[in-house]
Amino acid sequence: MTSTTPRPARHRSLGDHTWRDQAVCQSIEHNPVDPEIFFPDPDETDKITAAKALCNQCPVRRVCLDAALEGNDAHGIRGGLTEEERGPLHTKIAQRLDYSRVNETIAAGRDVHLTIAERTAVVQAAYHHGLTTQRLAWLLKVTEEHAKKLYRQHRHALDHRELNQPETGTATSEAGGEHLSRDDFGTAA
Ligand code: SF4
Repeated sequence: MTSTTPRPARHRSLGDHTWRDQAVCQSIEHNPVDPEIFFPDPDETDKITAAKALCNQCPVRRVCLDAALEGNDAHGIRGGLTEEERGPLHTKIAQRLDYSRVNETIAAGRDVHLTIAERTAVVQAAYHHGLTTQRLAWLLKVTEEHAKKLYRQHRHALDHRELNQPETGTATSEAGGEHLSRDDFGTAA
């Protein structure tokens, strides 16, 4: 029997904005912050330095950056990075394949941000663990009919995977059929 000791959540749930309560850029009576410093022009180095100094001491810096990337928020300084510094990360996030997110979705049923590649990995892991189409539909917030289609596509890909199987670490669609390179999905209950 697999241990069901819950692991602490690593990723922000979609729609959870409670982290903002800890943001040091929140202007309060005894700690006024000029919000304009977070929207500097590229040559306004004083503003950039001041904003980054706040971000450097912010306890939610990482989640702030994640939220900006996941929400495609390309404006202003977020998570200690300027718009220009964040640009390549916005491009790169589409290719992210973070198995801890897949794990939190499958094992804990958490509603975290998933890229297309991560949704594909969820389908693969759900299939591997024998989850029902109803459960898969709930996890991915799709209809049960669509979940059935995803499983059909995955089965079809499995039938053909011996033909070409170089693992690239990325997937191209929700049920593209690339095999999992890890099997660390915990208890898929
Ligand atoms: S990391 Fe910076 S922008 Fe984000 S919440 Fe903290 S202080 Fe504000």
